[in-house]
Parts: sequence; C-alpha cells; structure tokens
Amino acid sequence: MRSSSSARIAVAALAAAACAPNGAPTDAAREASNDAGVASARADARDASTPTPRPDAAPRTDVAPETSRACAALALCDDFEHAAVGGPPDPTKWTVGAPDVTGTGALAVDDAQHHSGARSVKVTGQGGYSNHIFFTNADVIATLGPVVWGRFYVRLSDALGDGHVTFLAMKDTSDGGKHLRLGGQSQILMWNRESDDATLPDLSPAGIALSEPLPTGRWLCVELTVDEGAGTMQTWVDGAEIAGLHLDATPTPDVDDQWLRRADWRPALADFALGWESYAGQAMTLWFDDVALDAARIGCL
Ligand code: CA
Repeated sequence: MRSSSSARIAVAALAAAACAPNGAPTDAAREASNDAGVASARADARDASTPTPRPDAAPRTDVAPETSRACAALALCDDFEHAAVGGPPDPTKWTVGAPDVTGTGALAVDDAQHHSGARSVKVTGQGGYSNHIFFTNADVIATLGPVVWGRFYVRLSDALGDGHVTFLAMKDTSDGGKHLRLGGQSQILMWNRESDDATLPDLSPAGIALSEPLPTGRWLCVELTVDEGAGTMQTWVDGAEIAGLHLDATPTPDVDDQWLRRADWRPALADFALGWESYAGQAMTLWFDDVALDAARIGCL
C-alpha cells in the first residue's frame, strides 16, 4: 500500500469515482477501485516477506463492496428522511452541540441537497475556534469494539485549506477523553490525534502526496475502520483506500511513523460526531447523509 504506484492508482480511483445521478459508482469507478485492490494485493504479497508480521494487524479489505449493507441491519444508520427540514436530526440518535463552545456555526436538516431520499444534514461551519458545531451519537460506537466501521457521505462547498479543520471527531476515553479527528490540513484529508497533535499522514511533502484533496460540489463516500485492540486504522474515499491514511503496526516514513511514536495507542471510542471545527479560520458549508456505524464493513450505496 505504501508504494508510489499504489498511491497513483488510488489517486486514479478517486478521480474516476464520480457517482452516477442515482449515487451508484460508475463502472469506471468500480474498475479503478478493483485495480487499486489488485495493486494492493500485489503490494501485500511483497510485504509478506517482512520477517515478523504482527498477529493482531487489522484485517485487510481493500476491494470496495459495490453495494451497501441494508440500513436496518446496522448498529446505527440514519438517512435523515424522517426529521423536519430546518430542525435538528433525530434527537433519539443525535445531540447537537460541540465539546467546547458553539458560536455562529449551525446545522439543520436540509432539503436542498441529499444523497438518499430528499434530505441531509447541512452544516454551516464558521471559521475560528469558538464556532464548533457537531451532531453526536454517544450510544453506539462503544458497543461495537474492538473493530469499529463507519460510513458516511459528505459534500463540501469548498476545498480543504492549509489550516487544520475537523469534520469527524470521536472521543477516546483511553486518551484522557481527547478526540480522534478526521479532517484536513495542508489541503488534504488527514487524521489528527488531539492529545499530542500527531497527524496521519505526516505533513511532509511525501506524506501530503500520499493523501488527497477532497473534491467539492459532489457527494463523497467516506469509509473508515479503527481496530481498537491493535491500534490500527484505514480510510477510504469512494471505495479507494487513501494510502497516507493507513495506520498499521509498522512505522512507515511520511505515513504513520509520527503516530506510532506512541506505541501503546489503543483507542476506546465513546462517541461519533460529524460537523465542523476550524482552528485557523476556514469556514465551510457541508452536508452529511447516510451515516452509519457497525462492527463490519458497511460499503457505499
Ligand atoms: Ca437522505
């Protein structure tokens, strides 16, 4: 997964993964994803010569499923179709607010954009530290471990900027209640560990090149898995794994060497929050739809 050729294939898969009007991946996207999976398998075969693979390494599932598992079968699933436009998402599933302080950031169910049905959650994210806004489920993720899977669709109004931003935050009770955060910095998708500000990938030129800027103005399927027992993570966009966001047990320069300086990192995730948190001033309007959590891979619709 770490070779530059795999990264280029992942880029190609991402670029090709435009969705058809019904939200289904195009044939080109499926082919590109499958090509990425083949390349990954070849890379894995090379990796098999590594002397001491850890038995607790996360399972590898590089080939994207072409369909999603049914919503009713998942531990958490919300398409936001049953909440009133202009109001909060279903209060039996979600709490609206922010861990620190909310200011002029806002969110509400919206019928101007949707991935499924007619509605989604629109987040009007403002710049500046005091304008955090999230909708949070604190009931499900802690029941899933040790392997957690998440899937959501997101649509961004603007490109990720240079400053650090977060659109997914998960409280880690093994890390003093600090957050594991997915968002952007240096114009690419990246993970950040709040407790020590470690990033995945490293924000070196080579690390930045192993992640992606996120396309704007269309729905993106984001999938992630965290193995709390092994301390590993993987992340996909539109079915293509992002090479720079692959955390395993072996420190890789420019990818997870900084993260693995804390070799004992074993998260215990307590909640799942989507929204917007900007530290360096970037505002963003973004929409979320078809949000799901489960103990197995969910897939993209
Ligand atoms: Ca919907």
